[in-house]
Amino acid sequence: MLRVDAAAAVCPVRGVIRPASVLVRVAAARSCWFNEGGLAAAGAAAGGEAGPLELLAIGTPEAVDADPRSASVTVQISRPDRVLLPGLVNAHTHLDLTHIGPREHDAGLGFLGFIDLVRSLRQTEPRAVAESVTLGALLSVRGGTVLVGDIAGMDASGSSLVPWQVLRASPLAGVSFVEYFGLSEAAAVSLPQRMAAVLEAEGKSRRQRARLGLQPHAPYSVGATGYAFAFNHAQAGVPVCTHLAETIEEHSFVGTGGGSIGAFLRTLGVFGRAAAERFSGERTPVELVLGELAAMPQREGGGCSPLLVHVADVSDIDLERIVASGCSVAYCPRSAAYFGSAAHFGPHRFEEMLARGVNVCLGTDSIVNLPMGEVEIRGLSVLDEARLLIAQRKIPVMTAVAMATVNGARALGFDPAGFSLEPGPLAGLVAADAHGLLAGVVAEGAAGRQDELLLIGQAR
Ligand SMILES: [Zn+2]
Repeated sequence: MLRVDAAAAVCPVRGVIRPASVLVRVAAARSCWFNEGGLAAAGAAAGGEAGPLELLAIGTPEAVDADPRSASVTVQISRPDRVLLPGLVNAHTHLDLTHIGPREHDAGLGFLGFIDLVRSLRQTEPRAVAESVTLGALLSVRGGTVLVGDIAGMDASGSSLVPWQVLRASPLAGVSFVEYFGLSEAAAVSLPQRMAAVLEAEGKSRRQRARLGLQPHAPYSVGATGYAFAFNHAQAGVPVCTHLAETIEEHSFVGTGGGSIGAFLRTLGVFGRAAAERFSGERTPVELVLGELAAMPQREGGGCSPLLVHVADVSDIDLERIVASGCSVAYCPRSAAYFGSAAHFGPHRFEEMLARGVNVCLGTDSIVNLPMGEVEIRGLSVLDEARLLIAQRKIPVMTAVAMATVNGARALGFDPAGFSLEPGPLAGLVAADAHGLLAGVVAEGAAGRQDELLLIGQAR
């Protein structure tokens, strides 16, 4: 049994405990990632799936002292200037772009300039894709992330099972959402065949630690039939995710078929009659996609609600549509800042969404849109997204931590219970740098440090 004493703990269910101690039953050395004592970094050395963890008690040090199970503690670790959190959930990332690293945004080239950059630099050979995803997984887990929603881009063979295979071999749990494109009817017709291997593997990955899902890329790159394909599978329990309502370019294109995306698609020769019809109704991206979702014939039970990523372009009626859809929203604050989202759409409406019962979680998006300085210290950290919201939007730390833990687990179809600090199974334990989370824990002026993964358990 392990005891950890720290400056504080933030549980998304019970809030801040200060100071805090926890008792955890650890079944296998490979769950241990802390750098201390004889068990140091056994998990980092072992890789693969960790052993189960059970959180037995949490409270002030005095309360935990009084727990009779404290007498059985065999390993005690102390983090007097750190904040304990559950294992983190990065609900939206693109680990296969990790090799590109952070890049400055060229506002003059707009969103299409960014798409061009990614298209020209992304790896397509399976071995190179695997290396990039592996690096991304390492940059995630070292900073306390234990569960990811990862977008698996296309590779040279057209299938994209490689990122899922890397995920399975890594210590992370998560969903590898296989991404597809295609506005034309021809692209939609070939989808069942293109996705056959993915869907077959998906059936076997259900309720496993590393699962498969589908990601129609975005409303400006996937047609109505392509979306119906994903939504149909979502009703049968396949995890589904899509980018939605992200940029001003998407807004103009979906409404009118014009703007820079329209011009780009016409040069590619993929703007056919179906597209001209779909994108002529002055509809918002949320209206278009959630209208198509609502029009699906409903099946009984067992389905998953799609995860909508970004959702920055939201009118009052769009907000109603999101609430009614039952979909989760993954918000990527640093990505939104990178693309200057607030200048076009105003501040993100995540607080209204949360107040209306929408499950809003956090993602980093790809490494390309993250600040170099933060990546160098803390890797691909969804906690840095939470820190940004605490600083800029003044939300309570408990809300920010819930968005980075239980809400993300729920959005990805995992049991949120392992992502709180309530007694019971535990998916991970992090000793976070207090900067940006809680004041008065570290001396003013002290440099920010890496968040430390202490333990990793099993997520289901
Ligand atoms: Zn994305």
